[in-house]
Amino acid sequence: MDSKDYIVIEDIYGAHNYHPLDVVITRAKGIWMWDVEGKKYLDFLSAYSAVNQGHCHPRIVKALQNQAKKLTLTSRAFRNDQWPLLAKELCELTGFNMVLPMNSGAEAVETAIKLARKWAYQKKGLPQDEAEIIACANNFHGRTVTIISFSTDPLYRQDFGPFTPGFQIIPFGDAEALEAAITPRTAAFLVEPIQAEAGILIPPDGFLKKAKEICEKNNVLFIADEIQTGLGRVGKMFACEYEGVKPDIMVIGKSLGGGCYAVSAVLSTNEIMGLFKPGEHGSTFGGNPLACAVAREALNVIQDEKLVESADEKGSYFLEKLRTIKSKHIKEIRGRGLLIGIELYPEAGGARRFCEELMKEGLLCKETHENVIRFAPPLIISKKELDWAFKKIKKVFKSLG
Ligand SMILES: *Cc1c(COP(=O)(O)O)cnc(C)c1O
Repeated sequence: MDSKDYIVIEDIYGAHNYHPLDVVITRAKGIWMWDVEGKKYLDFLSAYSAVNQGHCHPRIVKALQNQAKKLTLTSRAFRNDQWPLLAKELCELTGFNMVLPMNSGAEAVETAIKLARKWAYQKKGLPQDEAEIIACANNFHGRTVTIISFSTDPLYRQDFGPFTPGFQIIPFGDAEALEAAITPRTAAFLVEPIQAEAGILIPPDGFLKKAKEICEKNNVLFIADEIQTGLGRVGKMFACEYEGVKPDIMVIGKSLGGGCYAVSAVLSTNEIMGLFKPGEHGSTFGGNPLACAVAREALNVIQDEKLVESADEKGSYFLEKLRTIKSKHIKEIRGRGLLIGIELYPEAGGARRFCEELMKEGLLCKETHENVIRFAPPLIISKKELDWAFKKIKKVFKSLG
């Protein structure tokens, strides 16, 4: 079977809810991937930042294998000897003091929403069913019905109603709008510190800090979705650190599983997280020992290999290089750490054709929305390898005019 065969089969039997590049990967190691014909590619997406540690990291694979032979699933009906250690290590790493484990990012966001609502009724004293949560325009927090209920992207919502009530939208980065949107019924403000899916949108300096102050003043919880920006991607362990902001609730996922397993978590204080009582929330696979063993090693790798510092250093290096590219198609180049976007003018004919051209050159990245090319290589990438990528990118901008 060659690539074409796999593509035909996938398109017949697999739901068409994605529009992937036509490359069929069969193997990967570190920053490199190989297709079924044996052609080698540099991964410049990292599975939407779920592979910050690089593909098939030997230590993470080893942790996975060892745990798989020993114990994989107990459900939380019983205790296991991995979840307590992950919980402790995560709290020590983040400075929070209680954590709830889930699997996907969307589930963790759902958990944060449930937690904020519970807090609003039990601590803030709101009347039942009246809690409101403020989110931002162009947000991306996942795909469940409740989460798309506060999406502003018609593509994510069309034909999926009726929607969950209780959400308000403000423009991203607008602290005054946040203040104005808060009512006595507001439970929380939910925000991505950098909007990645929306096109690597970085809020104005001071926004997160200001937003946090406004939340504090109004007894509103500040919830940070660090699923994509967290765990080193943007050159700090968490993007909120850029403004010294400590959220009341923080949601992480993606690279928490080291690219090997779906693991997500919601972190908070005892005062807030302690509101969940037995039976009120859960997940059969959440906190399973296989996930926890993988996540523990995934976190160790980030720290031992200094991936946060690496993302910061390599990110600035690469951003500076990218800014030397002269092209009439480029509207703006922006990024933090190794989360970088090139926004093209609408006349450039869409980001996709650039991604397709880069694929031919052996560089795999993906457009986000129409006009932004996202670059997000694994954080283990070296300067030499970034130089290689830069050459390819420069060449493609030259050949596409
Ligand atoms: C990917 C992502 C999610 C959803 O995570 P899934 O694991 O795909 O459910 C939520 N929020 C942000 C910011 C993300 O990047």
